[in-house]
Amino acid sequence: MIYKGIIERYGKYLPVTGKTPVITLYEGNTPLLRAKNIEKFLGGNSEIYLKFEGANPTGSFKDRGMTMAISKAVEDGSKAVICASTGNTAASAAAYSARAGLKCSVIIPDGSIALGKLSQAMMHGAKVIALRGNFDDALKIVLEITEKYPLTLVNSLNPYRIEGQKTAAFEIIDFLGRAPDYHFIPVGNAGNITAYWKGYKEYVRSPKSEVRSQKNKDIGHWTLDIGLPKMMGFQASGSAPIVRGKPVKNPKTLATAIKIGNPASWKKAEQARDESKGIIDTVTDGEIIKAYKLLASLEGIFVEPASAASVAGLIKYNSKLKIKNEKLVIVCTLTGHGLKDPDRAIKSATQPKVIDQNMKKILKAIGL
Ligand SMILES: *Cc1c(COP(=O)(O)O)cnc(C)c1O
Repeated sequence: MIYKGIIERYGKYLPVTGKTPVITLYEGNTPLLRAKNIEKFLGGNSEIYLKFEGANPTGSFKDRGMTMAISKAVEDGSKAVICASTGNTAASAAAYSARAGLKCSVIIPDGSIALGKLSQAMMHGAKVIALRGNFDDALKIVLEITEKYPLTLVNSLNPYRIEGQKTAAFEIIDFLGRAPDYHFIPVGNAGNITAYWKGYKEYVRSPKSEVRSQKNKDIGHWTLDIGLPKMMGFQASGSAPIVRGKPVKNPKTLATAIKIGNPASWKKAEQARDESKGIIDTVTDGEIIKAYKLLASLEGIFVEPASAASVAGLIKYNSKLKIKNEKLVIVCTLTGHGLKDPDRAIKSATQPKVIDQNMKKILKAIGL
């Protein structure tokens, strides 16, 4: 068994050289799970796959970008990094910084970060600053600091983050032998939808792509025999600046990872939407929680609420896309693990019964 992180696996598509020190926790290579029960629930002929990014080392897709950002920071001689975060970037930056021996500071919106993420950042030894304000305020401050001080910014404005994150699209193509027809994805700061679209375009068109070289071995040049997916992005309805067409001052959603009112990659997300002929739309918190519970109860996959926005979007578009009638291949990205936000899980489920050590009562409670 040889473990490889995304840099070792896909280095030829990434801005690294043999001299780049690889700081890895063996991120990537996450499961692409066929969701047969959700297929049945939606009632159609389409194949639905779930890219479970909660299986990354710190529990979210942020690790793909962070292995790149931290490796390049070390290569460039940086001694310290900083980010604003709704939580998962902080957890990932803290872990990879610990491994690299870098100092790490994170600025988080006070009160709007899930417990699991906060505990990770603290345990990995980052300086955690809880800001009175929201994510957008935190990002503004971090940008001001990195302009004046020698700290490396590891938010998704750091182009190496996008480069690392695009490898999720590579993995999907390697697994399916093609790109999906539709790709559903949550949208917060909009770095990930940008990264997937970049990844799909580059991999489908690359002469180095394993899929292309298998399919077109004797053609010798790129042909468009692998189509590109339509990118289907979903923001929470109380936090949907791209859909509304203007920044949201006080974004509101229980999906804290996408509670962002002024996304850094706004323009690039619109570009991904338009080039792919996809859409960016909203889902309500109610729809998010419904999908969150469905994933756990029907497929055995526990995600954090923001991650379920992709599946909530799929449910919303089920009849519009004619998923029922057509044989489509659909991928939904599930961005982070459910254990990140234990409070929400406990609030969303039936509380356990407290029972005396009485066999009769226990059997009754089990339903026997
Ligand atoms: C960061 C994050 C998102 C949003 O991704 P963007 O690149 O900011 O659009 C969604 N879900 C989870 C779990 C995240 O950590």
